Amino acid sequence: MASRSGLVAIFPAIDRIRDEQTDEPKRRIGRFLKSTFIGRRWVIGSVMSQTMNPFDLLRPDAVQEQCECDSLEQVVMVNLLTDNPLHCIKCRKEITPERLPLTSDDVREISGWNSIANALYKLWLDSTEYEIYAKEKLLDPNGHVNQRGLEAARHLSSKIPTWFWFFRDADDEIPDNCPVCCQPLDSDVKWAERRCMNCRLYM
Ligand SMILES: [Zn+2]
Ligand SMILES: [Zn+2]
Repeated sequence: MASRSGLVAIFPAIDRIRDEQTDEPKRRIGRFLKSTFIGRRWVIGSVMSQTMNPFDLLRPDAVQEQCECDSLEQVVMVNLLTDNPLHCIKCRKEITPERLPLTSDDVREISGWNSIANALYKLWLDSTEYEIYAKEKLLDPNGHVNQRGLEAARHLSSKIPTWFWFFRDADDEIPDNCPVCCQPLDSDVKWAERRCMNCRLYM
C-alpha cells in the first residue's frame, strides 16, 4: 500500500477513499496526488476499481466536504485538482470561500493560479510525454505557476495567515532546504512533511 506520507494521508476527503483499490496500478505514477480521488478518476480510468461507475469520469466532481470549524485561523492553499484550493489548517477540509475576506481580485488571483496548477498537475499525472515538462515547472520556485501561487498566498496572508503548498513528487527524496529561500526546512509540522516558516510554505 502507499505510504501515508503526502496529500493522501493529509486531506481527509481524499483519505476516505484511499483504500478502495490497491496501490499496485498507480505505483508508476507516483503516490500522493496520483492516488487521490480526482487524480485517480482522471488518470486511472482504465484501472478503475469495481465500485466505480465509469460514467463518473464524465460527470462534474463531487462536492468536497467543507470546513465547519467555528473560527478560521490559518489557510493552506493547495491544489487538489478541485476548483477550490483553500483549506482549513485545523480540519484540512475546503473552506467555503465566502467565509474568507476575499475581494473579487483575490478570487481571480487564487483561481487563476489554481487553474494553471491544475493543468500542470494533470499533465504530470498523465505520465506521457508531458510528465517531465510538467514536473519541472511544478518544481521551479521561480517559474510562473509558483511565483503566481506564492504571490496569491502572500496577498491572502495580509488578511489571514496562508500557507502555500509546494509540489513534491512522493517518489523523490524529501529536500533538506526550502526551494524558495534555501533555508533548512522544519520537520516539526502537523500534517505536511516539511515547512518553511520563512516563506510560509508547506510540502
Ligand atoms: Zn476547519
Ligand atoms: Zn523558505
